[in-house]
Amino acid sequence: MPDIINLLPENIANQIAAGEVIQRPASAVKELMENAIDAGATEIKLIVNDAGKSLIQVIDNGKGMSETDARMCFERHATSKINNIDDLFHIKTMGFRGEALASIAGVSQVELKTRKQGEPVGTYIEIDNSVVRTQKPVACPEGTNISMKNLFFTVPARRNFLKSDSRELKHIIEEFTRIALAFPDIFFSLTSNGQEVFHLDRGPLKQRIISILGKNYQSKLVSVKEQTDYINIIGFVGKPETAKKTRGDQYFFVNNRFIKSAYLNHAVVNAFAEMIPKDTFPMYVLFIDIDPSRLDINVHPTKQEIKFEDEKVIYAFVNSAVRHSLAQFSITPSLDFELDADVQRQEAISGPFTTEQKASAMSGALYQTFTKGNQAHFIESKSNLESLDLLYGKRSASADPYQVQPEFQPEPLTVSGKPVNQDWVQVGNSYILVEIENGFWLIHQQHAHERVLYERIESALKDNPIAVQKSLFPEVLELSPADSALLAELQNDLFLLGYMIEPFGTNSYVIHGTPADVMKGNEKKAIEELLEEFKHFNLSPDYSEREKLMRAMARQQSIKAGTKLTDKEIHALVDDLLACRVMNTTPGGKPVFLEFGYPDIEKMFGR
Ligand code: ADP
Ligand code: MG
Repeated sequence: MPDIINLLPENIANQIAAGEVIQRPASAVKELMENAIDAGATEIKLIVNDAGKSLIQVIDNGKGMSETDARMCFERHATSKINNIDDLFHIKTMGFRGEALASIAGVSQVELKTRKQGEPVGTYIEIDNSVVRTQKPVACPEGTNISMKNLFFTVPARRNFLKSDSRELKHIIEEFTRIALAFPDIFFSLTSNGQEVFHLDRGPLKQRIISILGKNYQSKLVSVKEQTDYINIIGFVGKPETAKKTRGDQYFFVNNRFIKSAYLNHAVVNAFAEMIPKDTFPMYVLFIDIDPSRLDINVHPTKQEIKFEDEKVIYAFVNSAVRHSLAQFSITPSLDFELDADVQRQEAISGPFTTEQKASAMSGALYQTFTKGNQAHFIESKSNLESLDLLYGKRSASADPYQVQPEFQPEPLTVSGKPVNQDWVQVGNSYILVEIENGFWLIHQQHAHERVLYERIESALKDNPIAVQKSLFPEVLELSPADSALLAELQNDLFLLGYMIEPFGTNSYVIHGTPADVMKGNEKKAIEELLEEFKHFNLSPDYSEREKLMRAMARQQSIKAGTKLTDKEIHALVDDLLACRVMNTTPGGKPVFLEFGYPDIEKMFGR
């Protein structure tokens, strides 16, 4: 028998490594932008074509590379950022694993132009599937200009795995946003298919947040800032009234690196408890600075998860810092000196806090310690640390009402009874009582309406488009770049559903018409809400885009529980429900009505 083990050729090894680091265009964007940041650039331009599938280019004015380094940087494990394993615990740069460029070179065609600061000429290199095709001197500005073309052309299977352009562009915008938020003193721009989507001048963090996440946050941000010897936190949280129904605008950075942490997220959300409705998500952009030796960032290939030496202390610190800011904001409105003070003051006077909410914000043990010392190292408040385990244990179990279940296909129910009369009444402004043979139904009005709307929408998309009612005074809708990309994707289906929406300059749309039953003046809100709902379902790759839209719209347009219905509305709703193909569950699988039989009720009475 011959020996069977051989060493993989370099290009194959690089393609395999790329599987971890470069999963999609957005991951390449992240790596290239981070390299530009590590190179000390003050200006970084990102250019993509076809959502990065045909081109991703990053141009920076950083320190550039020498001729030799320009060749070296594509080798696997080539990095200028660490020398030994100890360095791993003092990382101040974004990169350090020395595998991004090698991976990128293994899965695309790369062109690099780079000139080291102070050198007279630069270097041009062309690499194809890890093989250097050209290397020559070139005249170019100081800094680095790197293009990767035809991503995954060497790995067609992976290329086929990529999602639609709009979906991939959304991922790119997400990565771009995370980086641009973390470095407000760097200029960034993003150009997609020749159109400049972002142009972010250098400025204070607050300005950066508003230009990325939208003007809606103007005068709605509360500053968070606590410093100790061990850890600092700065940033902003949205005022409670800006809490949204989607998780979208939540950003946590540790030493300027975006991270995902359900635990720290809980620390923030928990600080908002009582101030925002359940099922809503507060906005935050928070930066923790901590000695890198107290972290391990090397636990995840794209470094989105990190390990803290002492997670609980960090939890308590974040939680109390946010609580503190919220409490301050509700009591002394003009604390955020950076803000336009006049607007702030007015806002806060008519602010969202009831006396009750204020009291509860102030009664926490942590708040008390703060008002005493106003120092974050009083956080070792015992009661709070004790509750942490509980919270931690609970967090995954905590029911997220929008948590997406696998696509649910309910069985049509063989309904045992049917209404025996038309004397239907609403109770509790939320349910409808319907008498059937030998019992009654308790119908949940919102669930019922969701089901009715869902089936109507389904039929509209199939073959019965809903008529558009043209608006006399079309409204203009301004969206964040991410939402704008989303709306562009939904535009055609929305038209079938009675919404006529057209692009109107960058990230703006004109609403020319809506279905007849959307109240005039509410068009904008309806669409914003719809996008919010849609984003919940976006978490699940299992649903088709259409399915998500159908569910989102049914949810958005449904009559909410707690709404008083007229007699006419009650009858219309029950009649429509009785005509449904599936009448026992919502599209998401929740029950539409409960059936009570008199025999069972008799039993409950002990008879
Ligand atoms: P890492 O960032 O983990 O070191 P990379 O593969 O991303 O690994 O990059 C390899 C090396 O190439 C970096 O350590 C750096 O020295 C150099 N480099 C990459 N991009 C740039 C850039 N835009 N400007 C200057 N040097 C760069
Ligand atoms: Mg790197």
